[in-house]
Amino acid sequence: MTVLRATRAANSSSSKTDRVSGPEDSSPADLTIVHARCVATVDDERRELADGWVAITNGLISGIGTGTPPAAAATIDAADCLVTPGLVNAHHHLYQNLTRAFPPMTDRPLFGWLQSLYPLWRSIDTESVYVSAWVGLAELALSGCTTSSDHLYLHPHGSGDLLTAEIEAARDLGMRFHPTRGSMSLSEKDGGLPPDDVVAADDEILAACEDSVARHHDRGFGAMTKVALAPCSPFSVTEELMVRTAELAERLDVRLHTHFAENAEDDEFSRATFGCRPMEYLERTGWCTDRTWVAHCVTPNDDEIVRLGAAGVGAAHCPSSNLILASGIAPIVDLRAAGVKVGLGVDGSSSADSASLWLEARQAMLLAKLRDGPGAGTARMALEVATVGGAGCLGREGEIGTLTVGAVADVAVWSLTGPSFAGAVADPVEAWLRCGPTGARDTIVHGRPVVRNGMLVSERLDEMLGAHDGLARRIQRLDA
Ligand SMILES: [Zn+2]
Repeated sequence: MTVLRATRAANSSSSKTDRVSGPEDSSPADLTIVHARCVATVDDERRELADGWVAITNGLISGIGTGTPPAAAATIDAADCLVTPGLVNAHHHLYQNLTRAFPPMTDRPLFGWLQSLYPLWRSIDTESVYVSAWVGLAELALSGCTTSSDHLYLHPHGSGDLLTAEIEAARDLGMRFHPTRGSMSLSEKDGGLPPDDVVAADDEILAACEDSVARHHDRGFGAMTKVALAPCSPFSVTEELMVRTAELAERLDVRLHTHFAENAEDDEFSRATFGCRPMEYLERTGWCTDRTWVAHCVTPNDDEIVRLGAAGVGAAHCPSSNLILASGIAPIVDLRAAGVKVGLGVDGSSSADSASLWLEARQAMLLAKLRDGPGAGTARMALEVATVGGAGCLGREGEIGTLTVGAVADVAVWSLTGPSFAGAVADPVEAWLRCGPTGARDTIVHGRPVVRNGMLVSERLDEMLGAHDGLARRIQRLDA
């Protein structure tokens, strides 16, 4: 993979002849995105370029500038558009879109919600995981997402190689993917929440984790697939498994992920079962490190926020899920101020139930305003959380979530036209999240369009939606 060396001009003004940076050689780029109303780079200086362009070569960003773009084999006209880094989804359970808006669980808080759905989820298999991942990742791509993680903690006995099934779905669609090999080991009979037939023994889980990393984890720059280890939550795994998973992640040099401090029930379970708050549990199991990113992080107190930041932990903020399950408002302004790498997650589609990362960015903006005042929750804050914040959670800062020369060419193009943008002439970034295109016009992953003109490039959508409908009816037992 070639990274074109780039030069940096004296400044980043919006002069027609000014270039912030560009390729040194004269060979045409593979693709340019040109004449953007604004390119919001989310780079270290947070530059925003009027009449901007982005050049892409060999899957990487080879130049960024303003005015006249360089020659290219293909061009996307982004007039009247905002161009941002592709959004990064730091927490999800893709298979859950098979049980969306399922009536028995729609009025339950977290624990009751989980226990009403486990009996359905235990029937997932490689086919349903492939199809649900394909559809879920397509939904994310349409909302401007270019990299997604997935927390796949459900591995019912005899269900097959589910992690490989979802990796194949991401590869077929062209999405950058961070699956996590999840696990559950504490069933109802041992004081946990899940039923007995979806948990496994610690040794079996750890062997499967190591195998998944060996087979799928790409350590290279620009990797399309990276694997992390992810015990489901304190209420579904043993303390010993938490400790041993952290040790394995250290030995394999991969990242760690789990649910953390999601709501009052979660706190109470921790006190009753482990004799401490979730934060102390995280620390005593060896998880309070910069290798870890957690999901939710709703209930840390002021002192715990400082400790999380000092340790370099990442946190995936899941605003819609936290609202639907009435879990609370995560203190993301305080977490960011303390140094926590706050990213954004759509969370599983049985608790969100939409999986639009744009929508989550808007929710993050609105909730920050509600909790910390109107000036705290800006569109630029939400854009940072949705891009560089997610990159921090996944350990890929400078590689994804930013438009800089040498970073991967993951780009979202957002149209700022039509009735919902009438009058929004002064600030394209605030307009993007306050007025709302709701979907990306173009989503480009590693230099390849996955969404063009608001439509998936793949021609398999109808086929996959048809298959998904049959699988969802089967799992919800509505196919009789
Ligand atoms: Zn979750």
